[in-house]
Amino acid sequence: MYDLIIIGGGPSGSAAGRIAGKKGLKTLLIEKEIFPRYKPCGGGLSEHAMSYLDFEIPESMIERDIFGARVQFKGQVVEQHKDSRIAVLITRSVLDNYLLEKAGDTGIEIKMGEKVLDYRENSDYVEVFTDNDTYKAKFIIIAEGAQGKLKYQIRRKDRKDEYAIGVVAEIEADDESIDKYIHNAIDLHFGRFKQGYGWIFPHENYYSVGIGGLAKHLPHPKKAMLDFLNENNFHDDYKLHGHIIPAGGVKRRITSPRVVLSGDSAGFVDSFLGEGIAYAIRSGQIAVEVISKIILNNDDMETIKNYEMICKSEFIDNLNYSLILTKLINSYPSLFLKIFASNKAIEKYLEVPAMEISYKSYIKWLIPRIPMFLLRS
Ligand SMILES: Cc1cc2nc3c(=O)[nH]c(=O)nc-3n(C[C@H](O)[C@H](O)[C@H](O)COP(=O)(O)OP(=O)(O)OC[C@H]3O[C@@H](n4cnc5c(N)ncnc54)[C@H](O)[C@@H]3O)c2cc1C
Repeated sequence: MYDLIIIGGGPSGSAAGRIAGKKGLKTLLIEKEIFPRYKPCGGGLSEHAMSYLDFEIPESMIERDIFGARVQFKGQVVEQHKDSRIAVLITRSVLDNYLLEKAGDTGIEIKMGEKVLDYRENSDYVEVFTDNDTYKAKFIIIAEGAQGKLKYQIRRKDRKDEYAIGVVAEIEADDESIDKYIHNAIDLHFGRFKQGYGWIFPHENYYSVGIGGLAKHLPHPKKAMLDFLNENNFHDDYKLHGHIIPAGGVKRRITSPRVVLSGDSAGFVDSFLGEGIAYAIRSGQIAVEVISKIILNNDDMETIKNYEMICKSEFIDNLNYSLILTKLINSYPSLFLKIFASNKAIEKYLEVPAMEISYKSYIKWLIPRIPMFLLRS
């Protein structure tokens, strides 16, 4: 009998595994892939995300330091930078492998290349059925990401207006030409389709180029991606990878008596930007903090409900407002995107991913300025 089984070795599962190991919980982490494995992602790792880790990301893994953003909307192009770094660009296979190693360093058991097919929650324990064996634990954390199906024993499937589809390609280029295109900033293209954007992120020796948009408004994601590539002078036959991105801010059930959903499984992604790694890490950690109180301190089983409360106090409200901003922009795109793609609005927006202000404060800042922006334009 394990104290804890974690399903999935992405950032959320690894973060949970590291805390569980440090607390001395008898923990098994099961990952269906053999790491390092590919994961569709822009590879933006915010300072906010890194601040949750109890170790540094090695310099050798950092492909670029990001201080700002270039925002493009219907021919309007603005670029703003902050004095301090807001993110780094990394390659996900490398990052995820490192995070999993850091979990393993604490002595937890890790099984890779083994897929969890199902689980059964009993009153005293949970049984986990894989393609290889059956395991038992007092609690489980489902950190299977956006695409697995285990989470649906706890919550319903998202509707098409509650998740986005992302399509991404890694496009080789030499660093000199990347530097010429963009240096220490990410490139965001708005107004191409409703509730989403296209991106060009400058990595080391490649661009991450992608699009993401609400599934409801993106019926032909592959075509949208090919159009985006063409318009940005990427004309070769690239390997495209599609993936689901849940919209944060949608109310979802995330616990049952012995099961906790974390990361993308719980839908913890910034709806506006699509940033999910920070919330995946933090929610995995919070899940273990709550579960360990029950196991190690004999706290009441009801304590598990604190998971949602703590997530809410730390970041769910911010995700709610990321959804409100997205909906606001989506309702009046030509008005808001015109305003958003202005120097002042981008300069202010950069304070959000830098965690200097919340989405709520940004919206409060933006709304009263609409008449001024309109008069100037
Ligand atoms: C196109 C795209 C671009 C993105 N860009 C960014 C970005 O630049 N910055 C950012 O912060 N976020 C970005 N995100 C979001 C980010 O990728 C996710 O929020 C993050 O990966 C969530 O981490 P996770 O650990 O919850 O899930 P995942 O990273 O998806 O990890 C889940 C793990 O569980 C494993 N698994 C699944 N099912 C099972 C099973 N049955 N048994 C065992 N193992 C299983 C999977 O193999 C996987 O390794 C992007 C997402 C997409 C789709």
